[in-house]
Amino acid sequence: MSEEKRTEIGALGEFGLIDKLSEGVKIYHDTTVKGIGDDAAVYDAGDHFVLLSSDMLLEGVHFDLSYIPLQHLGYKAVSVNVSDIAAMNGTPKQITVSLGLSNRFSVEAVEVLYEGIRAACEDYNVDLVGGDTTTSRSGLVISVTAMGTVEKDKVAYRSGAKESEILCVTGDLGGAYVGLQVLEREKQEFLANPNMQPKLDGYPFVVGKQLRPIARMDVIHEFGALGIVPTSMIDVSDGLASEVFHLCKASGLGAALYEDKIPIDKETYETAAEFGLDPNTCALNGGEDYELLFTITQADFEKVKNHAEIHTIGYMQSADKGKALVTRSGNTIALTAQGWKHF
Ligand code: ADP
Ligand code: MG
Repeated sequence: MSEEKRTEIGALGEFGLIDKLSEGVKIYHDTTVKGIGDDAAVYDAGDHFVLLSSDMLLEGVHFDLSYIPLQHLGYKAVSVNVSDIAAMNGTPKQITVSLGLSNRFSVEAVEVLYEGIRAACEDYNVDLVGGDTTTSRSGLVISVTAMGTVEKDKVAYRSGAKESEILCVTGDLGGAYVGLQVLEREKQEFLANPNMQPKLDGYPFVVGKQLRPIARMDVIHEFGALGIVPTSMIDVSDGLASEVFHLCKASGLGAALYEDKIPIDKETYETAAEFGLDPNTCALNGGEDYELLFTITQADFEKVKNHAEIHTIGYMQSADKGKALVTRSGNTIALTAQGWKHF
């Protein structure tokens, strides 16, 4: 019997695996400005850049059909892709949608999914221009690819941050994770007693964040209006701490984050407490918020300081100072990133 080497994917993790795969990838065209390693790839289209990004949602991994309505799932699949285009400071223009369907699905069910997809296309002003449809033996698969554009001098990479620049985040964090806890609890109660109706009324905000996230295109338009070009940017899909790690790694820097400046909605805070969870941990390590994390120059601080949707949460520092979290009690501790672990 041959003894082939076998490394478990879990040993590398998602990001380790992507790093390893990208090592062997060659770039053949000088129109490829940015390949693997950012929220979207960047293509030089002459007078502007074209952005390209793809994300796949799998039943049982990313969603559970026992609690996400198909309409919301369709909307969410578009939002997560638009969010990656937003993270490059771009505007989405076209999407393709590929589906893996089992025979469990009726035509009517797929139509409901598409109602959500069409609603998102209308909200984000994007055209659905194609896709693929196949059979799946392991649940529903939705893969969306988004294309967008950005002016060449406005593109924001993960790698552009400089020392002492200000770290900002949009909206609020941790809500989607807390919403997932509410949905999981109701599902367990439903399984125990199918006659019971889900009690979701008390949690409209966090459940909405989980089921129907909205990509922050509003903030991208605000950047244009305020004359801000973020020096670096990433969307918060895996939890704030994990995204701070990505910005730091790509920019070759460290960062300091103030725990008391991390924006947490009141409902998120109270619901986390109800579940015995630390709201700060939910904000730092919960996933799927689809907010934007970015850096700006000190000179741009005045433009954002009174903005209701933009929060300054820390600053970038040299790599040797590391990634630090200044806690509410004033202690400085090392920031750790758990993120989402799919493997
Ligand atoms: P995001 O969370 O913004 O969608 P990911 O963490 O999924 O980004 O991906 C990081 C980078 O790795 C992106 O540039 C993405 O295109 C690339 N990538 C992810 N999976 C693969 C793969 N299987 N092959 C090639 N590139 C990949
Ligand atoms: Mg992203």
